[in-house]
Amino acid sequence: MIRANDIKSAKKILQDWRRKNYSLTLVPTMGYFHDGHIALMAKARQLSNKVIVSLFVNPAQFGPEEDLDKYPRDFDGDSKKAAAAGVDLLFCPTVPEMYHDNHMTEVSVRELSARLCGIDRPVHFSGVTTIVAKLFNIVQPDYAVFGEKDFQQLVIIKQMTADLHYSTTIIGHPIVREKSGLAMSSRNAYLTDYEREVAHSLYTALDSIRREVQKSKGQKVVAELIKMAKNIIIQHAECSIDYIAIIDSDTLKPCAVISQLSRAVGAIRINDRIRLIDNVALYDEPV
Ligand code: AMP
Repeated sequence: MIRANDIKSAKKILQDWRRKNYSLTLVPTMGYFHDGHIALMAKARQLSNKVIVSLFVNPAQFGPEEDLDKYPRDFDGDSKKAAAAGVDLLFCPTVPEMYHDNHMTEVSVRELSARLCGIDRPVHFSGVTTIVAKLFNIVQPDYAVFGEKDFQQLVIIKQMTADLHYSTTIIGHPIVREKSGLAMSSRNAYLTDYEREVAHSLYTALDSIRREVQKSKGQKVVAELIKMAKNIIIQHAECSIDYIAIIDSDTLKPCAVISQLSRAVGAIRINDRIRLIDNVALYDEPV
């Protein structure tokens, strides 16, 4: 595995690969790899000749009160894991190079970025789309793999890719979970053992919506399903709810009635310190 810490050396390697007609897949990450990241890398391995993983804790997607400074980092451990996963190029640019002093440009996707997590994190998604646009321009990948764990992000990236005419095909990857159902996340490192036990209530709540919907063949009232899920979460005094919703997977708009495209989504806070998100498709997605 080659490691490039600046744009110029990454571009040199990528140009060489493109000249040799290799197909390229990019997996953008913020590091502190867990099995969810590794699964995305394995998917990328199947898609193309060369796998590029970017590792960049992107300041632009953190709000002023958020956890940028304490976001978990382990560059050496990540390098070893990426090499073991068959990654060809680990691209770790610096903040001053990605956002030079006179940086003025922002890429943002209207409407979709304002919904769900965008309500509590108003600058988050424009930070994400700006960095992903930059990475697409540097790498020019044939494919890019994103996790369904960040479902809103995946939908927004697909929209940006279509709107800006990128030639990259966006591939979504299913969520990788702990045995308890808790979605793997770098932020799980913040959880104490006890908090980890209550954190999976988010998945339990969203999955209970899925089970009720399938049992009733979609006939349940949306508001009742949301109330049931919220009750599961607030049984734990440590958990507060940012939102629980049933949305359309394409538009991210709340569903009035359940359809094949409906998805239960949620964000909770544990002890007001740790914000976790998750989502569950209410019907099996067509393959
Ligand atoms: P992050 O490093 O948290 O920015 O995540 C990098 C990529 O990994 C994003 O596309 C995430 O959606 C994806 N990802 C994170 N956690 C998981 C998970 N548990 N299962 C699948 N994909 C994930």
